[in-house]
Amino acid sequence: MLTETLNFNEVRAAIDAKAWRTSFPSAIEAAYESHRRRYKARDIRSTIVPCVTVYNLFLLLDYLLVPETFALAVAVHLGLVTPYMIWAASVLKREPRKVVRELVTISVPCLMVAQILLIYALNTGEGADQYQYLTVVVVIFMGSVQRADARYAIVASLAMMALYIAVLSTGSSPPAVEIVGVTLMGSVAYLTATANRRVEQSARHAFLRTLQDSFDRIHALEAARRDPLTGLGNRRHLDEHLAQNWPAMAASGTSVAVLVVDVDHFKILNDTLGHDAGDMCLRRIGELFSTTIRLEDMVVRYGGEEFVVVLLHATATNAVKAADRLRESVQALGLSAGGDTPGNVVTVSVGVCTGTAAETSLPSLITDADKALYQAKRSGRNRVVLHNG
Ligand code: GH3
Ligand code: MG
Ligand code: MG
Repeated sequence: MLTETLNFNEVRAAIDAKAWRTSFPSAIEAAYESHRRRYKARDIRSTIVPCVTVYNLFLLLDYLLVPETFALAVAVHLGLVTPYMIWAASVLKREPRKVVRELVTISVPCLMVAQILLIYALNTGEGADQYQYLTVVVVIFMGSVQRADARYAIVASLAMMALYIAVLSTGSSPPAVEIVGVTLMGSVAYLTATANRRVEQSARHAFLRTLQDSFDRIHALEAARRDPLTGLGNRRHLDEHLAQNWPAMAASGTSVAVLVVDVDHFKILNDTLGHDAGDMCLRRIGELFSTTIRLEDMVVRYGGEEFVVVLLHATATNAVKAADRLRESVQALGLSAGGDTPGNVVTVSVGVCTGTAAETSLPSLITDADKALYQAKRSGRNRVVLHNG
């Protein structure tokens, strides 16, 4: 996915700097180019048949304007240019890198112009004078159907015009025909290049906006899994993360311990020291837990003044020891618990439940740990109780 390789700030900066008008910073440019490669390959699939058909329908003009070389025109159309167009399409369908793609693309109109000029050179008279104007149609084809990259299109237009001037200056047409031809080719090349530039700019802008939307969606999903007060994951994060990993944990026989941690008499703290002090207390506990647990384990703010800690590969004895360490470390923070008794510090009660992923589920472990927590509260708070049976 593009959002994994790109940086949101870079995309944002590119939009703000209107960088899409010319080119993107290199990482985004590379992503855009790979997107464009696929788009061009799809495009060629839908345009190759109409292009080949229209090109060969122009044989009718050969028949009407330059009948002397009609047989040769048919041979060149069907024996050379058409097979070349089909070969070029097959190359483009394979999504080659940009330089190959653009060179192959512009080689087709160049060959068509060469074909028109060849037939022109073998004929004389008014029919030939009219026939050579077909080169303008080819420039339109390059600019509107092929939409070759601007720099390549300019090079191709210049090459076509050079060939055109070279051939017409040795032909028998009056100079006015040549001047009209060059003017038409030049102006059409300019107009299609300008239109292409606009289309390219909107495509680049749309690409950046799409990237930004993807990042926004990811950020929104992340925010929905995070508790803004403590910065820890929330209940949704726990549920989704474990639902995702549970089958693998079950398959590998992983044992899981769930600790439900609840702040004791938190209402008293809130009521006597204020809501802000309550918030600060939750933040400090969250910070303590997240810096204490091992990387493979997980702590979330489950709701209100309740945290859930999930320990992997922990036996009941180890889980109780870990829970007790957490309980002691909260007490050691020495946060004022408020209330009437001066010097009271914040404590927590912990309910613990363990099981193997294969034999139990997260909801069931949490329910049982909650029952143990209730026991811990009933038997005096600031303690750890292990659920048994
Ligand atoms: P117990 O020892 O039995 O758990 O008693 P308690 O007072 O901790 O439990 P109780 O459920 O009566 O009160 C929990 C309080 O937590 C009530 C609620 O206002 C407070 N609380 C919940 N979320 C927040 C929060 O985000 N910030 C603050 N400051 N308080 C909160
Ligand atoms: Mg409480
Ligand atoms: Mg509670």
